[in-house]
Amino acid sequence: MGLSIAIVGSGPSGFYTAEAVLEKWSDCTVDIVEKLPTPYGLIRYGVAPDHAKTKTVAKSYEKLALDPRVRFFGNVEAGKDVSVAELRERYDAVVLATGCSTDKKLGIRGDDKKGVLGCAAFVNWYNGLPAARDLAPPLDTESVVVVGVGNVAIDVARVLVKTPEEMAATDLMEHAARAIHASPIKQVYMAGRRGPLHAQFTNVELREMGHLKDAAAIVDPAQLPETIPDEAKAEFSDRQLRLIQRNIDTLRDFAKAAPGARKKRVHFVFFANPVEILGGERVTGVRFEKTKMEKGRATGTGEFFEIPCGLVIPAIGYYSLPVPGVPWEGGKAINKDGRIEPGLYCVGWIKRGPSGVIGTNKPDGDEAADQIAADTGGAGKGKPGRAGLEALLAARKVRVVSFADWKRIEAAEVARATPPAPRRKFATVAEMLAALDASGSAAAPARAAAQAD
Ligand code: NAP
Repeated sequence: MGLSIAIVGSGPSGFYTAEAVLEKWSDCTVDIVEKLPTPYGLIRYGVAPDHAKTKTVAKSYEKLALDPRVRFFGNVEAGKDVSVAELRERYDAVVLATGCSTDKKLGIRGDDKKGVLGCAAFVNWYNGLPAARDLAPPLDTESVVVVGVGNVAIDVARVLVKTPEEMAATDLMEHAARAIHASPIKQVYMAGRRGPLHAQFTNVELREMGHLKDAAAIVDPAQLPETIPDEAKAEFSDRQLRLIQRNIDTLRDFAKAAPGARKKRVHFVFFANPVEILGGERVTGVRFEKTKMEKGRATGTGEFFEIPCGLVIPAIGYYSLPVPGVPWEGGKAINKDGRIEPGLYCVGWIKRGPSGVIGTNKPDGDEAADQIAADTGGAGKGKPGRAGLEALLAARKVRVVSFADWKRIEAAEVARATPPAPRRKFATVAEMLAALDASGSAAAPARAAAQAD
């Protein structure tokens, strides 16, 4: 008898797990349980709206979703509509792929002031995650400090300074476009507590900052090393050193380039450790301690400086929220190589924390499949699987959104877009479901996936 496998979460790590188990067992069934009516998680709500090429990976996930062995249970929240324990009772294996959804806090004085907004909240807002619809970030400021020098910090800085024309062919949410493009933002400071050798952004993303229509990238050449120092050569691999050299070369190009007529600035500020958010109720600036590097770590120099701003966006990493009934520690599920317990597995950011690119999730899926193979021998135990979940959700009157339903929602988003925008995303779940109803779907309000597809 084939294995019945439930995957919770339909982002990259969920789909790579589906791919791995479908390849391993031709007779398995895979049910993907997703809180939202929309699949793809981070691809839809995390990847920057102007990075359309990165989002094309969703095409390969769609192929998997259309595999006859796979069923998408959208609009079904694990922990609310169905518990993890109930999934475990019904499936031979349950794989958690719920990603990271909350911001790591700066943990410094003043970080609770109005005008300090975590990057997860901000990115979700401009990408249209329904829960972030009403964030209303205070963009009524000329100056923004983004803490961190990783790829998320770069995404945030770039989206803040790109022109409406540069964003026209993207799926930036219209509420975000209106607010960002009406804002007086002129200066964006990206602050790294370590130096340029230890910046986390990748070179393609960094170089983009040199090609913005109305914003110049500003770098203090005094912060760039003439050559990579010997101690760094001991700290990094040859491959890392080549990537670091590329970043240094790009930053040097920025330092040399004239801003020309561009009105906005993105400043790269290194050796700057935030120690206090300044202001009264609302942020007025950030106080930094200058740092120097000792054995790869930033240590304070006792010298301080301030950057005035009305908005602070820490882009310093994420935590995942605990899934009820699952052992959790330090923002991750407690697991050994992806196994939480026999029958329960995890992949992606809840397994290993918020690092790596989309493809980094692929080996996680392979590893989960190996763990499932080791625990089950590849044979199902005759659990009810899909039929059991359908019956439970129908009894609870949960409105399940099937993959075919999602395709109707997607078609409606594409149809209402103004070219060259590829789609105009719905901002709330209610809008998505209304569009589905209007599309002529056979969906009834209390319909379970049994009738889907
Ligand atoms: P990240 O790459 O880990 O960068 C986090 C940044 O925050 C680092 O500069 C880090 O400095 C800094 N930081 C952490 N804690 C801090 C603190 N308490 N005070 C001050 N600074 C602090 O994380 P991310 O930018 O969130 O990205 C997450 C993952 O997604 C990464 O693997 C990234 O490459 C990937 N991603 C990729 C893309 C893309 O490919 N285009 C886009 C977005 C995200 P230290 O280094 O000193 O800790």
